[in-house]
Amino acid sequence: MNDFSSSYAEIGGRLARRAAQCGRPPETVRFMAVSKTQPQSAVIEALGAGCRLFGENRVAEAAEKFTPLRETYGDIELHLIGPLQTNKVRQAVALFDVIETLDRPSLAEALAKERVRGTRLPCLYVEVNIGREPQKAGIDPSETVDFVEKCRSEWGLPIEGLMAIPPYDQPPEPFFRQMADLAHAAQTPVLSMGMSGDFEEAIAAGSTLVRVGTALFGARKLPQQTC
Ligand SMILES: *Cc1c(COP(=O)(O)O)cnc(C)c1O
Repeated sequence: MNDFSSSYAEIGGRLARRAAQCGRPPETVRFMAVSKTQPQSAVIEALGAGCRLFGENRVAEAAEKFTPLRETYGDIELHLIGPLQTNKVRQAVALFDVIETLDRPSLAEALAKERVRGTRLPCLYVEVNIGREPQKAGIDPSETVDFVEKCRSEWGLPIEGLMAIPPYDQPPEPFFRQMADLAHAAQTPVLSMGMSGDFEEAIAAGSTLVRVGTALFGARKLPQQTC
């Protein structure tokens, strides 16, 4: 087995075991390969291993890598997990199946404009700044439920989930638990949380979608954009 397929099988196995330990059927936790900064050849390797769910953090990079591959692999599901500038909304809604980073009212308004023009929108997740970190994007936890409601009622947006990255220098469990409470209160079926270093804790707290990059592909070679 090559590197990706062995990591993919290993992570998939850990995920399924953790889910089972928590009394959850493994299929209630989805598993995304975060391919940001990885070359297209790495994505092709992942496709060969059976992976179809990918996360990218930049619109242009994702378009370049995935548009040609989609002609061959019609069942790719692509999520945007990085910040979205309002001037790239039109390109993003055409490219992504899910935008996980709805993090501010001005972006909700830009998405609503596309909807009013008759564009079919992707599913949307609201990004929560669960650790209230000044350098991080996302809605404040105390405003999240109101923001989700406003997105739905005022802007007509299909909010399916919440997404967060907890502070990297603290134990993640309390943040994951707060996210689970918020998802319950906001009635969002999807809870996107957990990365290479903490996806098992995230599953224990109720994550339905883990986003794994380095544990699958190895270290990222290009400078990483923080989000
Ligand atoms: C890069 C990134 C990941 C993957 O992180 P790893 O630690 O490499 O698994 C997950 N989610 C988001 C939003 C990211 O930007």
